[in-house]
Amino acid sequence: MNLSLPLRELGGVGEKIDESFRRVGLRTVKDLIHYLPRTYDDYTQQSAIADLRPGKATVIARVESTETRTVRRGMRITTATLVDDTSKIKAVWFNQPYRATQLKKEERYMFTGTFEFSYNRYQLTNPAVEQAKVLEQQAGEKIVPVYRSIKGIKPQLMKKLIASLRPTITMLGETLPAKVIESQGLMSNSQSLMALHFPSSQQEIAVAKERVGFEELFQLLLASQLNKQANTRLAGWKIPFDVTAAKNFVDGLPFALTDAQRRAAWQVIQDFESEIPMNRLLQGDVGSGKTVVAGFAARQAAQAGYQSALMAPTEILASQHAETLRVLLAPFGVDVGLLTGSVKGKARTALLARIESGEVDVVIGTHALIQNKVVYHKLGFVVIDEQHRFGVAQRQALLEKSARMPHLLAMTATPIPRSLALTVYGELDVSVLDELPAGRKPIETKIWAPTNTEKLYAQVDSEIGKGRQAYIICSLIDEDPENDVKSVEAEHKKLKSTIFHHRRVGLLHGKLAPAEKEAVMQLFADGELDILVSTTVVEVGVNVPNATVMIIENADRFGLSQLHQLRGRVGRSSHQSYCFLVMSDSAKPSARLREIEKSQDGFYLAEVDLQLRGPGEIYGRSQHGALNLQVASLGDTKLIARVQIAVREFLASGDDLVQYKQLAAQVEKNQRLTTLN
Ligand code: ADP
Ligand code: MG
Repeated sequence: MNLSLPLRELGGVGEKIDESFRRVGLRTVKDLIHYLPRTYDDYTQQSAIADLRPGKATVIARVESTETRTVRRGMRITTATLVDDTSKIKAVWFNQPYRATQLKKEERYMFTGTFEFSYNRYQLTNPAVEQAKVLEQQAGEKIVPVYRSIKGIKPQLMKKLIASLRPTITMLGETLPAKVIESQGLMSNSQSLMALHFPSSQQEIAVAKERVGFEELFQLLLASQLNKQANTRLAGWKIPFDVTAAKNFVDGLPFALTDAQRRAAWQVIQDFESEIPMNRLLQGDVGSGKTVVAGFAARQAAQAGYQSALMAPTEILASQHAETLRVLLAPFGVDVGLLTGSVKGKARTALLARIESGEVDVVIGTHALIQNKVVYHKLGFVVIDEQHRFGVAQRQALLEKSARMPHLLAMTATPIPRSLALTVYGELDVSVLDELPAGRKPIETKIWAPTNTEKLYAQVDSEIGKGRQAYIICSLIDEDPENDVKSVEAEHKKLKSTIFHHRRVGLLHGKLAPAEKEAVMQLFADGELDILVSTTVVEVGVNVPNATVMIIENADRFGLSQLHQLRGRVGRSSHQSYCFLVMSDSAKPSARLREIEKSQDGFYLAEVDLQLRGPGEIYGRSQHGALNLQVASLGDTKLIARVQIAVREFLASGDDLVQYKQLAAQVEKNQRLTTLN
């Protein structure tokens, strides 16, 4: 059977069914073959009722009677009395009333559930049910695949369709290079898919999964390595190192660089000296001082006559960068320009002209930097701040503004777990700022029930009394930004007129006009406001070292990485800082909140986040949701390391990817998904 045959052509698939498949992205026979079981019901471990031991258990038994009753609103309990030659037992299901109609009296079934002691008797809780007759007919199929349910498709139909593809699956050709299969001792393509859809033992499933997971990662790592190779073939700019300029820059800083900053700056400089364009990720936890590394490099580029562009995700951030870098670079005659949406009219025209002529050495801005009208002059160095905030297309657009591929420094404070760095971001060289500037104290972080908030406010007030400033981040009410604005406005009004009537309280949210936002931020940065009541717009990058307290309302509604980012707005000086995570209710705090209370290590928290939410959620659905890893886990560093070696061997062997059609197609797709430029 042709693998690209539309599912509609299969017996039993009408227009409606086809539509249901399409909704989850299944179009062809091939898609269906690769729709792998989510889990398996294992009926191989059956025992007689009299021999049952507490734990997971399977029995084959006759149904004597069934009964469903409602114990309280929203809770319905169905029980069945099961009998075999040895004894009797009750099976109990919660909120599955259909069980009563599904189970025919006197019929035999296989039940797999938890055998446990509950309400003074032993029972079988929430067992899965399979008709014993059917099972006994299909000898050897006592491990039953469970597919992720698809709306509009009955499980029986799914099983029937997959069964009808059995001959096709048996005939499937190999998709990985023979040498890889051999050297890694992997199961063949058709064997592994047969094993996953029609398993005969757990052992077989495990070996098949290993093969499929290996293949998924192989496609991913090969793609990133090919991206890396492609990058080295591009012609870039050679930016020579200027020792004096470097020394002057460092001497002019109001602080000594950390060792980590020195190392990163040095790595950038070495990349600059090569004609191969730099493709480097600078990872550094919030407050680790990434900006100055970028400034150092921009200074070098300017010295050699190249323009730099720094793109940041928000106006506030862009203008802060402009301000910081102006102070650092102006003494050396390096001209810094700020281009955002709020630069308008004549000022904009003039700025664009100065950028085009090369008068501006360092152009800092938001998405405005990639507009058609912006023409650069020998753009040699591009910095993307908070890189995960931008899409592939936006980064690409900026890089394409140069006659040759510029050197790229992508910066992020959302640390990328090692496993992801190797796979999804494998094409990048990575510099890590794993050290905070000297003298920083850990931020005291506390989870707070929504009661007893006076105490919190008292602490805020006492910090302000000492000359410090505070953030109050509120309230993520729902997905609707309108409502967020309403709630932050209400909170601002309340605090200002009651508890903090004697303090200067400012308001910041995304709906304010850019100029207003700017003005409020400026007041806060200048110490003209004691408290800033804000939505998460302050999350990214904003730097006010004198702010030492943060209260985050409804903290449970935020993601782990986001909380870490928010908290990073305090703890930016040598003063002791505090962060209070106020919960929406007095329920038990989530694992997420407990982790953030315990740890300030962004790398550790990113790993935890990856475990809790999966990579798609963290790094943007659009990019990574499409990676479609069904079996492999990006947390499986052992397998990743193994695949990495196999990919290297494959590339070194000179074997041509083109001859592996399926592999080549998937790799090409991955290349587009993961590339940074
Ligand atoms: P991030 O990595 O979060 O972008 P920033 O670049 O905004 O961090 O730097 C945070 C703060 O730390 C800034 O006020 C900056 O001036 C300061 N800073 C950077 N490097 C050092 C250093 N080596 N010693 C002391 N302070 C530093
Ligand atoms: Mg930053």
